[in-house]
Amino acid sequence: MDKLDSSTEIENVVIIGSGPAGYTAAIYAARANLQPLLVTGFNSGGIPGGQLMTTTFVENFPGFPDGVLGPELMDLMKAQAVRWGTKLVESDVTSIDTKNIPFKLKTLEGSIKANSIILATGASANRLGINGEEIFWSKGISACAICDGATPQFRNEELAVIGGGDSACEEAVYLTKYGSKVHLIVRSNKLRASASMIDRVTANSKITIHWNSVAKEAVGHEWLEKIKILESDSQYKELQVKGLFYAIGHTPNTSFLDNQIEIDGKGYIVCEGGRPETSVAGIFAAGDVSDSEWRQGVTAAGSGCMAALAAERWLSEKQLSRQITRENPDPDKSNIKNDLTEEDTNEKTFDFNSDWQKGSYALRKLYHESSKPILVIFSSPSCGPCHVLKPQLKRVISELNGEVQGIEIDIDKDQAIAQQAGINGTPTVQLFKDKLLKREWKGVKQRSEFKDAIKSLIK
Ligand code: NAP
Repeated sequence: MDKLDSSTEIENVVIIGSGPAGYTAAIYAARANLQPLLVTGFNSGGIPGGQLMTTTFVENFPGFPDGVLGPELMDLMKAQAVRWGTKLVESDVTSIDTKNIPFKLKTLEGSIKANSIILATGASANRLGINGEEIFWSKGISACAICDGATPQFRNEELAVIGGGDSACEEAVYLTKYGSKVHLIVRSNKLRASASMIDRVTANSKITIHWNSVAKEAVGHEWLEKIKILESDSQYKELQVKGLFYAIGHTPNTSFLDNQIEIDGKGYIVCEGGRPETSVAGIFAAGDVSDSEWRQGVTAAGSGCMAALAAERWLSEKQLSRQITRENPDPDKSNIKNDLTEEDTNEKTFDFNSDWQKGSYALRKLYHESSKPILVIFSSPSCGPCHVLKPQLKRVISELNGEVQGIEIDIDKDQAIAQQAGINGTPTVQLFKDKLLKREWKGVKQRSEFKDAIKSLIK
């Protein structure tokens, strides 16, 4: 799917970003027969799917009266964009050249030319930069409670969240599922979260709010053991926490634009009057990258629609719209399906030759009896990055024609195995051969990394 053509094909519209803004723009552009190409983003700027991939239930997106899981909502948008003919490229755009039309874009997979561009790169989670942060990053400190909250080290321990917005409140409530107590550290004397979110926090007896408090230092040995916070009376207080989660807002992903498009003092793309046009004709912006105020999934989706309609108008005014024939109109539509409902393999359903199974029973059997390499993904139910990675691993396994077997372990269900394997965040992928751990990866990586490591084990 993701190797770009070396031909000189010029795209009608390239959409950068795969959050609600990017996928909605793709749906509209595809239905306008523009055959859009969407660069999903990979490492820079968070994960494909955007911020909703690290959220649990989204309860305010219209059309889902009972709420919908963030990753599930993004799967549905992706499926809709692909169904109408969007080509996806799993890569990051590293630079663009806006001097002439067609515009030029460099990605990790090669170059693209495009007559119009929609920037929908969203925003990335901020870090605080306190003393000890680097040392304990992924060893107690995380920017995603929803991804990492279920890891064994946090069970029945005191945990802390920093921030006073909806994210901080949502994460504090979520963490009470795992921790014995959650400290919410707020720098001012008020929460800026929505009233319903504040109600949930104040009604939860496991959450203690520390007002007018600022975290200063993380302390521990192998793992975070405590944090020092400075309170309004200039007194330091220590909190014995094994987990510290940042929820202190986001910074728009605009650095790759290299000042070729006007951005404001906070890094947001400047668009006048809520319209999608940027300072460069033919380049449009949608979603959080140009919205410092509303920042909702539904407003991002709406602005993605506007950007696609504006791009279509612009291409037609300039008579730049053309028919594009794709040699390889991937991804395979049958792969775009929701696999949240996969069942654990048990004694009855276990299949020694299956490419992909789930749960500790399958892991034990294959670990002891299989002569093939075994790729194990440790995931947790609401982990968005796991959701991105799983289909990638399945694809690697199918491309290697059954020479490797894959297993998913839900660390929420199989806590003992996660502890034994030393898992401290999800997704973690471990590669075994002959009962030996050969490689370990944390977070989302490119398919080629897994493939190369597996190939080196296959004689
Ligand atoms: P946000 O609303 O920008 O809140 C960031 C919070 O972090 C603020 O309370 C801010 O404090 C605090 N903060 C910033 N820098 C800090 C620092 N250096 N030290 C300590 N605290 C710091 O960000 P968000 O909560 O991620 O929400 C972003 C958007 O997504 C919002 O529109 C929100 O409504 C939406 N959202 C919705 C849901 C939901 O509906 N389920 C969930 C998550 C997010 P101050 O208040 O003092 O500035």
